[in-house]
Amino acid sequence: MEASILQPELAAKIADLYDRMEKAYDLVAQQLDFTCNGCPDNCCDSYFQHHTYVEWAYLWLGLMELAPERRAAMESRAAAYAAACDKALARGERPQLMCPLNEKGRCGLYLHRLMICRMHGVPSSLTFPNGKMQKFPGCFRCQEIVGDRQAVPTVERASLFRELAALEQTLLGEQQGQQPKVKKTIAEMILIGPPRL
Ligand code: SF4
Ligand code: SF4
Repeated sequence: MEASILQPELAAKIADLYDRMEKAYDLVAQQLDFTCNGCPDNCCDSYFQHHTYVEWAYLWLGLMELAPERRAAMESRAAAYAAACDKALARGERPQLMCPLNEKGRCGLYLHRLMICRMHGVPSSLTFPNGKMQKFPGCFRCQEIVGDRQAVPTVERASLFRELAALEQTLLGEQQGQQPKVKKTIAEMILIGPPRL
């Protein structure tokens, strides 16, 4: 079994940050009376790449806690995902494939799911230091609920992103700037194994 590169204190900090992302999401969802219940879609087939070693390592912490057969099934789905993803990209299409961690419609690694998975759904914003703001309207169902409301509750991502970046710096330490940038799907993170720093 692979050794984790995450010290327990750092793992606890990521868990805490993830928990606060979830609470920020839940607050907005409550204000909008929005849930995923009864959704005809499953957005776990959305194509996303992820950008931090710290999330990659925390994902692997969760994978290592799974029973071997469950993890092996996820690895096998990750291989199929990666192959189908390559084909879609080669055709110039954005892949739409179910995440290899999804089990019967639900996240099989819920406590370790990545930041993007925790933000998708409700409206959010990202305010840059120069004051400019990027807005994310949320998923199609949430957009239907929001309609043409003027005052829309929103998760502001900036401080959460800053905290994640600080945790990434803590993990990388003196290797900051020396390691290649991360730009990987969850399937790739599974297939490569835990990041080696
Ligand atoms: S986030 Fe939106 S699209 Fe995704 S499952 Fe929930 S309701 Fe459906
Ligand atoms: S990690 Fe979990 S929540 Fe995120 S896309 Fe995969 S199955 Fe869905």
